[in-house]
Order: sequence, then C-alpha cells, then structure tokens
Amino acid sequence: PRQLGNGHGHTASPLKIFGHAKNKVNEIFKTITSYISESDAFLTGIPEGDNIVTREQLEEVKAFKGKVAGIGEVLSRDHMKVVFFGRTSNGKSTVINAMLKTKLLPSGIGHTTNCFVQVEGSDTHEGYLLTEDSDEQKSIHSVRELAHALSGVKLDSSALIKIKWPKEKCVLLRDDVVLVDSPGVDVSGDTDAWIDKFCLDADVFVLVANAESTLMQTEKNFFLRVSDKLSKPNIFILNNRWDASASEPEMMEEVRKQHLDRNIAFLVDELKVVNRQEAENRVFFISAREALTSRSQGQPGTPSPLLQEGYQARLFEFANFERTFEECLCKSAVKTKFEQHAQRGKTLSSQLRTIMEAVHEQSLQAKNRSITQRGETSSRLQFVSTQLDKLSSEIKDQIKLMVEDVENKVAKALNE
Ligand code: GDP
Repeated sequence: PRQLGNGHGHTASPLKIFGHAKNKVNEIFKTITSYISESDAFLTGIPEGDNIVTREQLEEVKAFKGKVAGIGEVLSRDHMKVVFFGRTSNGKSTVINAMLKTKLLPSGIGHTTNCFVQVEGSDTHEGYLLTEDSDEQKSIHSVRELAHALSGVKLDSSALIKIKWPKEKCVLLRDDVVLVDSPGVDVSGDTDAWIDKFCLDADVFVLVANAESTLMQTEKNFFLRVSDKLSKPNIFILNNRWDASASEPEMMEEVRKQHLDRNIAFLVDELKVVNRQEAENRVFFISAREALTSRSQGQPGTPSPLLQEGYQARLFEFANFERTFEECLCKSAVKTKFEQHAQRGKTLSSQLRTIMEAVHEQSLQAKNRSITQRGETSSRLQFVSTQLDKLSSEIKDQIKLMVEDVENKVAKALNE
C-alpha cells in the first residue's frame, strides 16, 4: 500500500533526488575539469617551434576551464523554485507557513504582502533578510520582527525581499527548495514584469484559490499570461479554506464537484497544460490554517478551536498535495536544470576532443614531414609523437567513458 505519512519524514522525500542529481552532475564536471587540466598541461608542454599546437587551440582549451568553473558556479546555486499566486487573503502566506511547518511569514489582516518574498535556506543558525538595494543582512528572530521589517519598507510590487531561513529548521529548505510568495494578483502591478522577473525559472506554480468563491477572472488571466510565456508550466490549484465547508456538510460534495470541474476545465481546456487525467492530480481541497495549526502545535490529535469537523481528511489532503507537488517539482527541476548542464558538459568534452584530435593529426603530419625531410625522426619529435599517440588514445577512451557516464547518470536521475 502507498505510504502516506505526513508529507515529510516518514517516507523518503522525492526531493532528495534533486540533491543526488546535483551531486552526480557535480562529479561529472569534476571529471571534465581534471581532463581539461590534463590536456592543458600536455599541450602547454609541447615546444612552440614544432607547429603541432596553435596558439588558438591553447587558448581555447584554457577558456574551457573558465566555462566549466562557470557551470559549476551555476550548479551550486541551482534550486527548485515554486511560486505562489492568488488573490490577497486567499491564504498564500499560510500555505507557505504550513509547508515550512512554522509561522514564518506574517499573515492575516494588515499583513498583506505588497511585494515578492522569497524564502530560501541558509547555513546560518539565525534567519536574516535581504533587500534588493543592499547587501546588508538584517537579522530576524520572530514573525513580529519580520512583519515589522516588511511593513517598514515601501516597495514596488515587483520588488523582492529574500528571507534566508536556517536550513536546520526546515527540511524543504535543506533540500534546496525556494518558495516565493507574491502580492495578490488583484493588486495592480505589471504582471508581465512579474512573470519575467520571477516566473521564467520557476519549476512549479501554485494557485491558492478560495474555496468559498469561484476562481476569479483576475486569477485566470494571470495564469493565461504565464502559460503564454512559458511552455506548459506545472500548475497546482489549491482550493484553500475548505474548512469552511464543514459548516455546510450537506452542500460539501456538490461544491467540491463544482470547483473540481471548473478547475479541471481551466487547466485542460483554457490553459491546455495537462490532460484531464493529470489535472485530477493537480487540484486539492485543503485548509492551510488547519495544516499550520496542527503542525505548529506538534502532534495532531487534540483538536484545537481552529480545527473544524472533518479536519483529518483535509490534513491528509494537504500531505497528499505536498507529496504530488514534490514529485512534480523535483522532476521538472532535474530535467530543466541538470539536463542542460549535462548537455553543455557533453558539448565541452566533444569540443575538446576535436582539438585534441586536430593536435594529434598535426603531430602525425609533423612526424611524416620530418621523416621525408631527413629520412628519420628526430628523437624529440618521436617522443612528442608517441606521447600524443598515447594521450590521444587515452583521450578517446576517456571521452567515451565520460560521455557515457554523463548520459547514464542523467538518464538514471531522470528515471528515479
Ligand atoms: P495571503 O494574503 O494570500 O498571503 O493570505 P494569508 O495567508 O495572509 O491569509 C489571510 C487570512 O486568512 C489569515 O487570517 C489566515 O489565518 C486566514 N486563512 C488562511 N488559510 C485559511 C484556511 O484554510 N481557513 C481559514 N478559515 N482561514 C484561513
């Protein structure tokens, strides 16, 4: 039977695959780096007067070092990114807090998020805040402080505040997930600018809707724009505040069906991002407030005044959402981020092969020239030539190995 757990902890999180994939691609790049260094050292060692290796070839090989270092840099910063959208007060901040299992983002009346807030992991013991205009790390100890810090800054709706939160306090952040809260889609803002700035590298979008009303046109329009700009974005719809249905149990099934039908029609017919069957796994009925309450209280079991009749089913659905979401997030991130890196690694190694083969060819020609000119090979050239023969065959084997390695590792990561 499928293990359901509470979203994290009891079962291995699918997000771990991202970390594995990252390590694997890192290993591949280490191999490529050592290979480039070896080739560079060899080529540099060939005496200039022999016309075996040109200055351009030498420079090109040296430039590979910089390129690989650049990829390594990008790789180390790679993460899985999820952006939350929806109208103000639908519960975006509460959903994020529930996923983080802590009341980090201020929510509720008077705490409207006016700009984008990105939560990401930090290796520090204390959380801190970064704004776009300075490198100053503003420390935060509590929600109240954070709320204060956020309300103290008057920012444009497309401004970004980063909250660096200790990885040790949150599994999601430890696994390289970055969560972005947005101003409500009903807030007037340049939505195209929002998309360009925050959405192009997003792996998953979560629309936090209000189960007490139908999906609004502003919410729909925003996602229509997103799917115009991105090819087949991964979108989840959370019908939040589903605890409100507890007060009208006789209507619950009907309302749920109505929402579900409309949400599916939106994803399938309007956005055209998934088929009908997939869409069923993209729509959830949850109560972020109950999830947060039960999680920040410790063990669920003793109902608090904030937990309504039937809350277990909603907590269960929230955990179910997280599981499906994590699978989707990880798959998308591994594919888009690492496939690209691996491809570049392959391109680099084949470019290097081309150069080394050219050098090999030049050395053979030099050898022939010297034989025809003097009837014998100078011992130095003989030495270089033998070295090149040896190196070249090693290179060929190594490249073959490496390319296969890259392909296997990527294929394995994607399969997992
Ligand atoms: P945001 O503006 O979308 O970030 O919304 P918030 O997360 O700030 O939530 C707005 C208000 O709705 C807060 O007072 C929350 O406690 C409340 N809220 C959020 N989720 C739920 C829910 O599932 N059920 C109920 N009853 N209230 C919720």
